[in-house]
Amino acid sequence: MTWSSDFNGMLEQDVPLADMTWYKLGGNARWVATPGSIDELSAVCRRASKEGIAVRTLGRGANVLVRDDGFDGVVIRLDAGCFKAVRYDGPIVHAGGGVDLMELAHQTARFGLAGLDVLAGIPGSVGGAIRMNAGGRFGRISDVVTEATIMDLQGEQRTLSNDELQFGYRTSAVGRNVVVSATLELREEDPKDTLARFHHVWRLKKESQPMADKSAGCIFKNPNGYAAGALIDQAGLKGTRVGNAKISERHANFIVAKRDARSRDILELIDIARTRVREQFGVDLELEIDVW
Ligand SMILES: Cc1cc2nc3c(=O)[nH]c(=O)nc-3n(C[C@H](O)[C@H](O)[C@H](O)COP(=O)(O)OP(=O)(O)OC[C@H]3O[C@@H](n4cnc5c(N)ncnc54)[C@H](O)[C@@H]3O)c2cc1C
Repeated sequence: MTWSSDFNGMLEQDVPLADMTWYKLGGNARWVATPGSIDELSAVCRRASKEGIAVRTLGRGANVLVRDDGFDGVVIRLDAGCFKAVRYDGPIVHAGGGVDLMELAHQTARFGLAGLDVLAGIPGSVGGAIRMNAGGRFGRISDVVTEATIMDLQGEQRTLSNDELQFGYRTSAVGRNVVVSATLELREEDPKDTLARFHHVWRLKKESQPMADKSAGCIFKNPNGYAAGALIDQAGLKGTRVGNAKISERHANFIVAKRDARSRDILELIDIARTRVREQFGVDLELEIDVW
């Protein structure tokens, strides 16, 4: 008996991860777990932790680069109905961690609820967005999260307030715990205004970023006082290629993958950008994406 045989039906072995990510790159996960309930999620976390097996949660894979040799551990996916439920209580929205962020942003905008409309164009799940404190120049998800329920890797659930979530720039206190659900406090407005804002923000994003290419969004965080994309551009690196990946000509903080690119091509471009920016400007670029 292995630990995995105890989770028949919700655990698959040797699963390609590429198609579960926006980059469409990388190798297999040793296991992928799709728990059907909170209890099953708790059992997988508890057992993995007892056996010393690494755990990662995958949302829409919009901020993850999986290495070519894959991930030696269990990847949790919140695809079951209980993790995708949305309940409205006036302007208060209760959403599962596996809910699609863009769909929720569009739906709430149509309902005349403001707050997620400013996140238009950010691919992801509610859980991934909270972990990363996803946002842009018009706002962040932390502006509307009142609390989130997380499950720790020992299988225990607890609810954290906005303060306890310790949101920062593309960071939170979620760590490797699993965001199971969240409560968002939106504002009632005229649906015409919220929908117009949703489409406006999305249009601006499409104009400035290579949204149709395979990427994981911005590779690096903006260092204090600088824009990472501008530094990479000023280092003359726009359009630099390794294999079938290149630093986007449209936005230098995006590394886009063409057909047959490998994760190692992206990693090499990351190294090149970091080295050149450090040499030319004395600035250290910190990764925004999560490399597995
Ligand atoms: C074209 C493009 C444009 C983008 N533009 C933006 C932007 O403007 N602003 C911005 O902030 N980001 C942007 N991103 C990055 C990405 O959209 C966000 O980081 C988003 O929040 C990722 O959500 P996800 O569900 O896909 O997370 P994933 O990529 O699946 O995971 C990201 C991290 O969150 C963790 N995670 C995922 N789900 C959960 C969960 N339920 N509980 C706990 N941890 C979890 C993962 O383990 C991983 O560490 C962009 C990405 C792309 C591809």
